[in-house]
Amino acid sequence: MTIAPPPPPDTQNLHWADAHSHLQDPRLAPRLDDVLSRARAAGLVLLHAAATCEADWPTVAALADAHPGLVIASFGLHPWFIQEKSSAWLRTLRALLADRPAGIGEIGLDGRMNDGLDAEREAVFLAQLDLSCELALPASVHCRDAWGRMLDLLLHRPPHPAGLLIHAYSGPPDALPALAEKNVFISFGGTLTRPKNARARQNARQAPAGRFLLESDAPDLPPDLPDHLEPFLSGPDGKLLSEPAYIPYAGQILADVRGESLAGIAAQTTAAARRLFAPLIA
Ligand SMILES: [Zn+2]
Repeated sequence: MTIAPPPPPDTQNLHWADAHSHLQDPRLAPRLDDVLSRARAAGLVLLHAAATCEADWPTVAALADAHPGLVIASFGLHPWFIQEKSSAWLRTLRALLADRPAGIGEIGLDGRMNDGLDAEREAVFLAQLDLSCELALPASVHCRDAWGRMLDLLLHRPPHPAGLLIHAYSGPPDALPALAEKNVFISFGGTLTRPKNARARQNARQAPAGRFLLESDAPDLPPDLPDHLEPFLSGPDGKLLSEPAYIPYAGQILADVRGESLAGIAAQTTAAARRLFAPLIA
């Protein structure tokens, strides 16, 4: 006799928030209506879209305007795109933030660029981090291969007045309590679903209560999907694209790793997102 695998969790009555996505990405644009309907069907009630470069700020603003109550927005310069900035970028950013409810992001450091621009990248990051403190707005942070410098910067500043979200956190687990004291939140998504990513699971297990959220990083960092879940979209290279509808699956992994119920994880991560992103919600 064979034993049937357990059915997929019933997520119909649970509410979820996607703490970090790039819904403005051109890879999603032609199919965005489908992406959003699948997100709603999966129980997503809040989707945070983070801009990456000056050129996508109007698109992100238009998305939030088109989906009030569902899509919230942040504006900023991602460390990969600092060379595309205009001379007026910081003034434009200030004007945008004065004009509408929004956060700052995606900002950060990336030690893998090897383009000779690390000093400028850090200056652009710090200018935006300072602005987020001055305006008391939450900021969304990217960090890859620059953990020593990032922790040095964040842990020597006062606690952030509105909260920082380090998305797809891959830093050291033992830094989590000190980061929480600086009002830092972390989020998990696709990377947590990869069975070989022991670091992500350790961080998910050790994240302080109330300090962890779920993210899709759509269309990047897609999950490792189990057989019972349908892959929806693929990119030009044929690889799966991430989207918010996969959040409940990442939530299931998070629940398993922490030994908590799926409903408890949905409630905690959605409440943390609503609290952190309160200034973005009109
Ligand atoms: Zn991102």
